[in-house]
Amino acid sequence: MEAMKAILIICDGMADRPVKSLGYKTPLEVAKKPNMDRIASEGICGMMYAIAPGIPPGSDTAHLAILGYDPYQVYTGRGPFEAAGAGLELQPGDIAFRANYASVNENLVVTDRRAGRIQTPSELEEAVKQIKLPVKFLFKNTTGHRAVLVLRGRGLSAAVGDTDPHEVGKKVLKAEALDRTAAARRTARIVNLFTKKVYQVLHHHPLNQQRRKEGLPPANMVLLRGAGVVPHLEPLEKRLGIKAACVAATALIKGVCKLAGMEVVEVEGATGNVNTNLRGKIEATVKALETNDLVLLHIKAFDELGHDGKTEEKVKFIETVDAHLEKLWNKADFLVLTSDHTTPVEFKEHAGDPVPVALVGPGVRKDDVKSFDERSCARGGLGYIRGPELLPILANLMGKMHKFGA
Ligand code: ZN
Ligand code: ZN
Repeated sequence: MEAMKAILIICDGMADRPVKSLGYKTPLEVAKKPNMDRIASEGICGMMYAIAPGIPPGSDTAHLAILGYDPYQVYTGRGPFEAAGAGLELQPGDIAFRANYASVNENLVVTDRRAGRIQTPSELEEAVKQIKLPVKFLFKNTTGHRAVLVLRGRGLSAAVGDTDPHEVGKKVLKAEALDRTAAARRTARIVNLFTKKVYQVLHHHPLNQQRRKEGLPPANMVLLRGAGVVPHLEPLEKRLGIKAACVAATALIKGVCKLAGMEVVEVEGATGNVNTNLRGKIEATVKALETNDLVLLHIKAFDELGHDGKTEEKVKFIETVDAHLEKLWNKADFLVLTSDHTTPVEFKEHAGDPVPVALVGPGVRKDDVKSFDERSCARGGLGYIRGPELLPILANLMGKMHKFGA
């Protein structure tokens, strides 16, 4: 028998709550989405709490849970996942931070948290990399004014505060140890040394002198936040015997997948917003399936529209994505469709509601649900599951699971 293949489609923040302006229906209940409904009506449906009932997940912790990891065990901050998503080769135990170039005055008071939204200044990246610290470190620009910093070595800790004051007019913070360990104190000292040296190399950097001449704010500081320790995640292939890839635009999700041992497929024009290259992502998904058992296709923009409270646009984007999903029919044995959390348009933040999930393929016990939405799927045959239960359910159908017992 040829190995079975599956596509897992995660629509970020697509699920919602009843919306007043939609006559107390949800965007999924209002949208015309024949392909999503086909997955629901030909398959089995249910509801999923990515982490646990009532817990509003981040996109990172939700994806970790859906991939079968316990976010409470492996997640200490966003830094490691951003850094992995930016393409840095990380090792378990590395301490990673999110970073951004900023403008400060001579008293280190922040005058612009984004340094005039400077665009990936590679000369400045080079200058920062020349700094000497008592430990090895990696530094990389990501998009716009953003970057990532990774500290590597023994005796380091992620229990350090931000240097980013998160507000203009405030001084760059001294990183503080957040617990009483020697490792936390040492890491804080190294971070503060980094701050000092960054200012030394960037303040008089020719690029910044040029910027001042042009009336632009200098990028003379790098602010740090979101420290986390790079976890050891047992690769999916080892845990479930599933060789997997991911097609995603956002660095955070790419990072989660990369640390889970998945292949990360780059797609030109994949932006994470409503103008993303959906056609390219669908094609990349089908292509990646040739060499993988499972491809995770992540589509981001529902979440942004939820945060922005854009109800009509969210309905429309559901319809746009649905039209593209038609090209996935018959490309894999199994299609799984779900969301990582709700981002209700009236709430504008992630909520701890369950999200619909539908699964179609051979051996699936088709139920009576005809529509992919929050209320219909709640009547489905899968019942209520949690994120870490999804892949074992799929792997069982794919014939990948081993018998427990005699
Ligand atoms: Zn999300
Ligand atoms: Zn969000």
